Amino acid sequence: MATTHNLGFPRIGAQRELKFALEAYWQGQISRNEIEAVAAQLRKRHWDNQSALDWVPVGDFAFYDQMLDMSFTLGNLPERVRGFHGNTLDNYFRVARGRSAEAAADHARCCGGVAAGEMTKWFDTNYHYIVPEFDAQSEFRLDASRLLVQLAEARSQGINAKPVIIGPITYLALGKAKDDSDKLALLPRLLPVYQELLTALAAQSVAWVQIDEPILVTELEDRWRQAYISAYAALNTGKVKLLLATYFGPLLENLSLVGALPVQGIHLDAIRARQEVDPLVARLPADRIVSLGVIDGRNIWKTDINALLDWLEPLAMKLGDRLWIAPSCSLLHVPVDLTSEQKLDPEIKSWLAFALQKLDELHTVAAALDKGREAVTAELDANRTAIEMRHRSPRVNDPTIKAAVAAIDAEFGRRKNTYTQRALKQAVRLKLPKFPTTTIGSFPQTPEVRQARSRFKAGRIDQAAYHKAMRAEIERSVREQESLGLDVFVHGEAERNDMVEYFGEQLDGYAFTRFGWVQSYGSRCVKPPILFGDISRPKAMTVEWIKYAASLTDKPMKGMLTGPVTLLNWSFVRDDQPRSVSCKQLALAIRAEVLDLEKAGIRIIQIDEAALREGLPLRKSQWKSYLSWAVEAFRIAANGVADETQIHTHMCYSEFNDIIASIADMDADVITIETSRSAMELLDAFDDFRYPNEIGPGVYDIHSPNIPRREHIVQLMRKAAERVPAERLWVNPDCGLKTRQWSEVIPALANMVAAARELRAEV
Ligand code: GLN
Ligand code: ZN
Repeated sequence: MATTHNLGFPRIGAQRELKFALEAYWQGQISRNEIEAVAAQLRKRHWDNQSALDWVPVGDFAFYDQMLDMSFTLGNLPERVRGFHGNTLDNYFRVARGRSAEAAADHARCCGGVAAGEMTKWFDTNYHYIVPEFDAQSEFRLDASRLLVQLAEARSQGINAKPVIIGPITYLALGKAKDDSDKLALLPRLLPVYQELLTALAAQSVAWVQIDEPILVTELEDRWRQAYISAYAALNTGKVKLLLATYFGPLLENLSLVGALPVQGIHLDAIRARQEVDPLVARLPADRIVSLGVIDGRNIWKTDINALLDWLEPLAMKLGDRLWIAPSCSLLHVPVDLTSEQKLDPEIKSWLAFALQKLDELHTVAAALDKGREAVTAELDANRTAIEMRHRSPRVNDPTIKAAVAAIDAEFGRRKNTYTQRALKQAVRLKLPKFPTTTIGSFPQTPEVRQARSRFKAGRIDQAAYHKAMRAEIERSVREQESLGLDVFVHGEAERNDMVEYFGEQLDGYAFTRFGWVQSYGSRCVKPPILFGDISRPKAMTVEWIKYAASLTDKPMKGMLTGPVTLLNWSFVRDDQPRSVSCKQLALAIRAEVLDLEKAGIRIIQIDEAALREGLPLRKSQWKSYLSWAVEAFRIAANGVADETQIHTHMCYSEFNDIIASIADMDADVITIETSRSAMELLDAFDDFRYPNEIGPGVYDIHSPNIPRREHIVQLMRKAAERVPAERLWVNPDCGLKTRQWSEVIPALANMVAAARELRAEV
């Protein structure tokens, strides 16, 4: 009999109840009891949703982040908050979000303000965790209360609970040693706390504990691999059974290590590492549980259950009771419930499965394995029909688009001349001063702008009224830029809700959900669009807006587009063709838009690739292949233009050292990047040899309401000029300004323009 279980459930709530409760609590609108009650209700509902499983995850709920929960469980709090007194939940939020000195006024003499914890992407997902902090002195002390309370709650609900914790090696590997000391040296101090935790769970008669070690799907140094052996020998106390969970990819060189660990069960991601199931089973002793993640926890497509069973049935015969089945990873990374989507195109909806539907699929698979396929004929037939319809739908596969991609040749991605030759022609045409000033695209999305959009979407104003409101906002942006004296203007992106959604809504092959929210960090969620079919652009998407903006001024107006790699990386993508193919289709659509903008007389076009870096595969050995098709896609999108047309790109992060050759290969005439927080040092990566084109290093952090001082900007740009010749430098903020207010933007940009003028006078 196949045992069913789940690794984790989305905690934000189908209606984002946790998000709204968190934000209300932070603003002092609801009490601690109220937010605790919302959390308890959500846990209860989610356990109900999962109650048909043989083992249900407990401890996967987190108010903010599961890694931060683990840090509290292990008593590993950053030095700067250790002196905090007061309520644990409030301190927890303080570690996550920081506390400003003003907010801490009545704590001025005791604990004061504090910086927020650093946040980083959870593997290759769009979830962000709070990075554990260590130093050579780090001590650990168990606080099992959170887990024990939730365990008791689940039990009182009649749930067969399987506590979930992050394993010690992954915990250490994902943390940061603030003093550059050796994190692994902390393992001997950490393990006793894990032992104590397992003992505490055993005392509650817990049978199985799921211990997550996803770091095993990445390249590990030998000493870290060695550490696995000693760590798990120490944790194998015989008091509880351990299910060691790996996910997000194949184990490769770590497979034999995993096979040899003294744990009672292994979970393997059988979506991304199906080829490793047989080799792993062959290595495992005959008493080990083999948990297979057979339902994709990272995407929203229905499982082809019949095909899955063809593969799984022989394995089930062989493994018998040793087989467990589950989604490939925690369902945290998919939306909760497809049935909420009342407005989604029914054809597309019939191809999808969100968290709840994925659990249904799991039960169907289990029933087919246990009782034979005849026991679930209706489910299997319905599933087969849906899979076939999707496969055959002309909305999914369009031969003309496939042919257009096949016809892409080397010429598509190549500018006619080198940067040096282009730069001369562009200089003649654009006549920009030294240190030209510009912004990254968006201006403040004011309440009026948002309101106009939501009224338009709700049908309360018509398109003409909406367009009028947007044009008024564009005109306002142009006038502000004129008074500020900027050199290259933008239209301000008032008409865009989001840099991906805006384009996705206008492209064929994309669908949008209403409630398909996925947690990104804390209370923040994203609603990734669904790229379901071959992509085409029925008509121009941005030209009218940009042309209108350009008509209001003589200054060059930058056309503003989102690049193909970013569109791809911020969407749920097809599982029936390689990502590289979908990316090329997007590239052709953006290329057509670029050419239309050029034809409309736009002299500068910016193609944002904010998400290029985050698409990097987990394993470095696969970076080259990703970068090669990603860069090619950008080049296809950008490089059809004449020498005189200036192509910009923008990336808002600050790690370039290891990918600089690919960034240079994109061959944009100008790149704007985030640098203000690293004080221009990252420009070291952009020396003449490695990066010969123009660069706009961001001179101020747009995430902060602080107004940058002119002297500070001048200083930063002087530092920049030590690394990149002044002729190739631009002056701009780190990123778009849509989250700021005009009252912050105007003085900030005024100082930026004044700084550029001062710099020009110097050279
Ligand atoms: N052009 C976009 C903006 O200014 C870029 C956003 C981004 O890089 N995240 O908002
Ligand atoms: Zn940015």
